[in-house]
Amino acid sequence: MEHYIEVIVNSYTGYFNYLMSEVLNPGWGNYFYWLIGISLVVWALELIIPWRKNQSAFRKDFWLDAFYMFFNFFLFSLIVYNALSNVAVIAFNDFLGLFGISNLVAIEIGSWPVIWQLFTLFIIADFIQWNVHRMLHRVPWLWQFHKLHHSVKEMGFAAHLRFHWMETVVYKTVQYIPLAMIGFGIDDFLLVHLFALTIGHLNHSNLGWSYGPLKYIFNNPKMHIWHHSKALSENHPYGMNYGLSLSIWDYLFNTAYIPESGRDIELGFENDEAFPDTFGEQMTYPVSKRG
Ligand SMILES: [Zn+2]
Ligand SMILES: [Zn+2]
Repeated sequence: MEHYIEVIVNSYTGYFNYLMSEVLNPGWGNYFYWLIGISLVVWALELIIPWRKNQSAFRKDFWLDAFYMFFNFFLFSLIVYNALSNVAVIAFNDFLGLFGISNLVAIEIGSWPVIWQLFTLFIIADFIQWNVHRMLHRVPWLWQFHKLHHSVKEMGFAAHLRFHWMETVVYKTVQYIPLAMIGFGIDDFLLVHLFALTIGHLNHSNLGWSYGPLKYIFNNPKMHIWHHSKALSENHPYGMNYGLSLSIWDYLFNTAYIPESGRDIELGFENDEAFPDTFGEQMTYPVSKRG
């Protein structure tokens, strides 16, 4: 039991020290400044070549979403996720130990060339995330948490990280076992993480981009806006375009849907007028039974 408590304490102090050193030491391996840098570049593109020309620079909920960006990327980890996940990993390993299993590695890809490791992890993680995202729409209690992401009414890059922290818990938990089976977590790789961050920012940006023929591989603003459409197509009652970084899964499994330009469609979900507009109420919404 003590080792769990020790892990919790170490997680909090370790993460706090990490966060402080990120803020105080700009550098090429630094997530904090990459998040700011990528955000500023995508925002600048939105201002220079906007898709919806009449959308204001500080669109509706700009600052709330900017707050979510830092909350979900850094603070949530500081507050609970880091401690919880460290405890969960140790508890899980202790549990496996009861059966004499010391690790889950089924395929050791650590000896492959780095580029193939990155590629493999990226594809596997993205496919798992596509499935998790579908579940967020199909399972009623998960949808209560996911509504927050869909409550954005005007799209801009910062809407990317507008989501309930419970989503982080769900995504990471589901990904943990498959990724542990190939030896490590996707977060080990700054490059993959930053690539996904950039694609995700662009997906939500006010840019009329679809990358030409690459749209069948990469998710893009013209495709993802339909994921946020308030009106759902008859053939897709739970939603469409679930892809995170890759669009390929939606094309393979018939959930891709781009009937026309989505530039000016209404975003949201049924009865979104009743969805709260402050951070505190948005956090408690899924359990407050108002949905
Ligand atoms: Zn969604
Ligand atoms: Zn989205």
